[in-house]
Amino acid sequence: MFKLFKIRGGVHPEDRKHFSADQAIETLPLSPLLHIPLQQHIGAPADPLVRRGDNVKKGQMLARSQGLISAPVHAPTSGRIMGVGGFPANHASGLSVRTITLKPDGKDEWGELPSVPDDPFSLPAEEIAQRVSAAGIVGMGGATFPSAVKLSLRKRYVLHTLVINGAECEPYLTCDDRLMREYSAEVLDGVRLMAKTLGVQNIIFGIENNKPEAQAAMRQAIEDMPAVEHSASAEVVGLPTRYPMGSEKHLVQTLTGKETPARGLTADIGIVVHNAATALAVYYALRHGEPLISRVVTVSGGAIKKPSNLRVLLGTPLEALIQHCGGFTVEPTKLISGGPMMGQPLPSTRVPVVKGNNGVLALTAEEVQDQPSSPCIRCASCVQACPCGLVPLEMAAQIRAGGLDASVKLGLMDCVSCGSCSYVCPSHIPLVQYFNYAKGELATRQRAQHKQNETKRLAELRTERMEAIKRAKREQMKKRKAEMEAKKRKEAEQQEKAAVGAEA
Ligand code: SF4
Ligand code: SF4
Repeated sequence: MFKLFKIRGGVHPEDRKHFSADQAIETLPLSPLLHIPLQQHIGAPADPLVRRGDNVKKGQMLARSQGLISAPVHAPTSGRIMGVGGFPANHASGLSVRTITLKPDGKDEWGELPSVPDDPFSLPAEEIAQRVSAAGIVGMGGATFPSAVKLSLRKRYVLHTLVINGAECEPYLTCDDRLMREYSAEVLDGVRLMAKTLGVQNIIFGIENNKPEAQAAMRQAIEDMPAVEHSASAEVVGLPTRYPMGSEKHLVQTLTGKETPARGLTADIGIVVHNAATALAVYYALRHGEPLISRVVTVSGGAIKKPSNLRVLLGTPLEALIQHCGGFTVEPTKLISGGPMMGQPLPSTRVPVVKGNNGVLALTAEEVQDQPSSPCIRCASCVQACPCGLVPLEMAAQIRAGGLDASVKLGLMDCVSCGSCSYVCPSHIPLVQYFNYAKGELATRQRAQHKQNETKRLAELRTERMEAIKRAKREQMKKRKAEMEAKKRKEAEQQEKAAVGAEA
């Protein structure tokens, strides 16, 4: 029996997974236009390789990664590039972001894909990571951190365990549940390739107990898995249904009892966490040479006629998903990209599906239960709910009073924005919104400081360069002067010699 460890805080929101949990994954038909943002990951945006009018094949790289923390994007189908320009982002801001628009030609013709060996386990770890990077794979649980970077952590850390995050603790979402049920062998294959790349001996699938079918499917896949040389041992562990169990550090703590150091990585304690959907993407890249061009998305909520789990090409407008699900039964009060606890309110359904987009929710007024906030009654419910041991009411009070630095001292940067505090607050204070706002402000301030430092550094470099040029010029003049004087002296000597010779 696997020993689990209790973690502090957390909440039990109604999971509402019954809307879509029994809906097998369906493939959404092709949309007339796909909008593929250049930044669907944490890090630098990809650099476009195509222009308006170019014809592209399915799987062709449309934009390459820029640097280590970046990811390329690929054509989800064959067609013609309509342009590279601004398009509303799949983000609460709805700001315009650089996006490639592709008009599918309907042929869905694959371009040339990288050849794959019969046994990808024979590839060196570095090559597996390199292939994952070239396939544009990022954390598909929503974090969107480039997966190849995480797969290369063995270079800097001593690792022993790969944890597969199958918690899917956000209410409504069932896409990972369906993936583990329907693609268990493929998910496991991707996981074992990741374990080989990381050089770990143990694999733990952490799956919440409200997904017994996914637990059973993964256990069966482990039982059936063919033997692989140097293979890590794998087991499925049922987790208590408690939000935010899927938070990486809390998942690891529940499974191992070990706390990840503040601002540190789980790799500091020898563990790497990947999502089940990411493992499936690794399977496609290493077994079929296919880049990340689609994902499974849960479309759900009380305002959706037929909640579903859809395999969708990246870049597909959300309105196509909603239409496929029969549209709205009532006008939704709130549209969300992701889950209701950590997801982003959507400004419009025109925005496209991106790599980290695991859900689209259309919620009714009854589900949202938006209520006006009232003053804090200091009940401390938020403190009890916080899984990070923070004091949300104090942090929010500091932020309200403009004390950003004071809120940092109170632990703002340790907040995982899980929203548990807001969920339990009887005064309906939007605590997590304060924290997200403050983190955004601090990031802007940091960027401005970085820019200022960079400008100062460049100015100092320029001054140094100018000084060096001046010094070099002075040296040159000094040298030239010395040469001239030497020349003059020589000429004078020669003239003197000539004069003495003439006298003689
Ligand atoms: S839960 Fe709300 S009302 Fe209670 S202490 Fe926290 S902020 Fe105040
Ligand atoms: S949002 Fe932050 S402060 Fe609130 S419960 Fe979650 S971790 Fe704690």
